[in-house]
Amino acid sequence: MRYEAPERVETAVSLLSGERGLARILAGGTDLLVQLKSGMVEPDLIVDIKKIPEMRRIGAENGGFRIGAAVPSAELSEHPGIRALWPGVVEAAGLIGSTQIQGRATIVGNLCNASPAADSVPAMIVAGAIATVAGPQGRRELPVEAIAAGPGQTSLAKGELVISIFLPGRPPRSGDAYLRFIPRTEMDIAVVGVGVSLTLGEDGLCTAARVALGAVAVRALLVDEAADALIGTAVDEAALERLAAAASAACRPIDDKRGTKEFRIKVAGVLARRAAETALERARRN
Ligand SMILES: Cc1cc2nc3c(=O)[nH]c(=O)nc-3n(C[C@H](O)[C@H](O)[C@H](O)COP(=O)(O)OP(=O)(O)OC[C@H]3O[C@@H](n4cnc5c(N)ncnc54)[C@H](O)[C@@H]3O)c2cc1C
Repeated sequence: MRYEAPERVETAVSLLSGERGLARILAGGTDLLVQLKSGMVEPDLIVDIKKIPEMRRIGAENGGFRIGAAVPSAELSEHPGIRALWPGVVEAAGLIGSTQIQGRATIVGNLCNASPAADSVPAMIVAGAIATVAGPQGRRELPVEAIAAGPGQTSLAKGELVISIFLPGRPPRSGDAYLRFIPRTEMDIAVVGVGVSLTLGEDGLCTAARVALGAVAVRALLVDEAADALIGTAVDEAALERLAAAASAACRPIDDKRGTKEFRIKVAGVLARRAAETALERARRN
C-alpha cells in the first residue's frame, strides 16, 4: 500500500486518476482507518489531503462560507460565523462521535463515506450546501444530495475528490435544526436523523423550507412534500401535523438491530416536527 500526502489539488487528482488499483482518500481517517483495520478495504493507494492548504481553510464567500474538505468538524463548532448562519449544520457535525473524533472527522468524509445514517448530511442538504469536486476534467459543482449513491457508494468518478463544501448565505428570519434518535445518549449511529431549514416572511408565514431525512433509506432523502407542508403556513399545529405525516410517508427504511421499519417511520415524523419547531424558534430570533 502506497501513502501519498500531496500539497496541491492537481497532484491529488493525478495520483488518484493514475492509480490502476484501489485508491482511497484520507481526510480525518475516522471511517477509513476503522475500515482498514477491520480488513473491509485494502487500498493500493491512500491519498492524504490534509497537507493541501486549500482544503484546510474556512473562508467567507458571498454571504456564506466555504469549508475545505480537510477541515475537522471541531473547527466548525468553534467558528462563530458558521454557528450563527447554519446552527443546524454545526449541531449535526457536533454529534459525530466524541470530542476526540471531531478533532479529526470532516463533514466531507462523513458525506463521502456514504453511510445512510451520516449525521451531517441531512443538515447540509437542507442548507442547500454545494460540493466542489475536482477531477481529471477540471472542477464541477454538485448539490450535496447528489454525492451519495447508496450505502458506501458515491457518484464521484475515478480520479475525483471533493475539495470543499459551500454553505450559502440566507435571508433574515431563517433558521435550521438537526435532530437524531439514537438508542444511547451519545457515540451511536442515528436510527433516524432529520434536518429542517425554513425562512419566514415579514408577516411570519413560511416562505421557503427544506426537509431531509437520514437513516431511513439507502441514502439521505430531500423530502419536498414535507417542505410543502410548511410553506405558506405560520408553521402552526396543522402544518406540523402535515409535515410529520409527509416525513413518515417518505421513509423507506430497513429493519435492523437498532430499530424496526415501523419505529423509524414513526420517529421520522416526531423528529421532523421537533426539528421544525427549533428551526422556527431560531428563525424568529434572526
Ligand atoms: C468512535 C466513532 C464514532 C462515530 N460516530 C459517528 C456519528 O455519531 N455520526 C456519524 O455520522 N458518523 C460517526 N462516525 C463516523 C465518522 O467519524 C464520520 O463519518 C466522519 O465524518 C468521517 O470523516 P473523516 O474525515 O474521518 O473521513 P475519512 O475516514 O478520512 O474518509 C471517509 C470516506 O470518505 C472518503 N473521502 C474522504 N474525504 C474525501 C474527499 N475529499 N473526496 C472524496 N472522498 C473522500 C474516504 O476515501 C473514505 O472512503 C464515527 C466514527 C467513529 C470511529
